Order: sequence, then structure tokens, then C-alpha cells
Amino acid sequence: MDLRVRALETLLVEKGYVDPAAIDRLIETYETHVGPHNGARVVARAWSDSAFRDWLASDATAAIASLGYSGRQGEHMVAVFNSAQEHHMVVCTLCSCYPWPVLGLPPAWYKSAPYRSRAVAAPRAVLADFGVTLPEGTQVRVWDSTAEVRYLVVPLRPSGSDGFSEDQLAALVTRDSMIGTGLALPVTAAAPAASP
Ligand code: FE
Repeated sequence: MDLRVRALETLLVEKGYVDPAAIDRLIETYETHVGPHNGARVVARAWSDSAFRDWLASDATAAIASLGYSGRQGEHMVAVFNSAQEHHMVVCTLCSCYPWPVLGLPPAWYKSAPYRSRAVAAPRAVLADFGVTLPEGTQVRVWDSTAEVRYLVVPLRPSGSDGFSEDQLAALVTRDSMIGTGLALPVTAAAPAASP
């Protein structure tokens, strides 16, 4: 695979179809500037601002763009909200479609064949692999990303986080919790709230 990719890249560069500097720039952007910290801000805002939450539910693309996160692989966003009744989990069964502007580049496991098939066939077993056990009564819904629509899971807000600032809330939001293979961190993981 490495050889094939290198051969392809060499050919494309030689023919002048791609600029290696531009590719490096893109990779650097998604490795450093864009990442799950963006999505965490979206979730933190949704947790603390019910008007924003409603907007996110009705037009996720616009609500997310209002925080400055937009661009390729995020043109058609849908936010799904976890509740006691429903837990959402995202996969791309065909390949590796992923909401870049809010989560950055997908982790290797997201692109792996076992995750892509088992997320659909045995979602609870996949969750168990990730150390997540849901209550019996909670339904698991699996969303299959497409070339167009990308999903962001809004995890349940951890108990004991009342009065947390958006920064403190964002620190509880993990990448996996926004894919649905994890939960938000318990409050003990956050910086302690400033004492009144
Ligand atoms: Fe895909």
C-alpha cells in the first residue's frame, strides 16, 4: 500500500496535478488546527445554551458554522443527541466519512473493516470493546455516514456539571463521545470549578 501511494503521489506531482506543499499544508491544518477540540466547543455550547441546542438540532451545519467550524467534509452536518432512552453511534460502513471540521481526521479504528461491520451488526459488543456499558433500556441507534451527511453525537451532560463554564464543559467532551463509542468524562476529570 505504501508503495502504491508513493507511486501515485509521484505521478500526480510529476504531471503537475497536485502541489506537495499544498498537501503538507492540508495535513498540518487537520493535524494541528482542526480536531476534536472544535466539536467539544459545539457540545459545550449545546449543553449550556438551550437556544443553541435547538438550532443545532434543526440546522447543525449553520449552528456549527456560527462557531467558526465549517469546510470540507462538514458541508451537511446532522447532530444527534444522546438521552437516557437513546444512544447514538456513528460509522461509515463504506469507507471512512467523518466530520472533519469538528473532529479532525478519523482515528485508524474508525477506518478499519472490523469497526465498520461490527458497529452495525453488534453495536453493543463494539461499545463493550470501548469500555462502554449502557443501561439495558437504552436503545442504540447507529448512523451510517455518507459522502454528504456527517454526524456529530452530542453526549449526555455529566451529572455534577451544573454551573460549569463552557471551557470546563468542553474539557469533559472526548472525541469518542462525539462518535458515540464513548461517553463524556465524569466531572472529576475536569479542572475543578472555581469556588464561589
Ligand atoms: Fe466514507
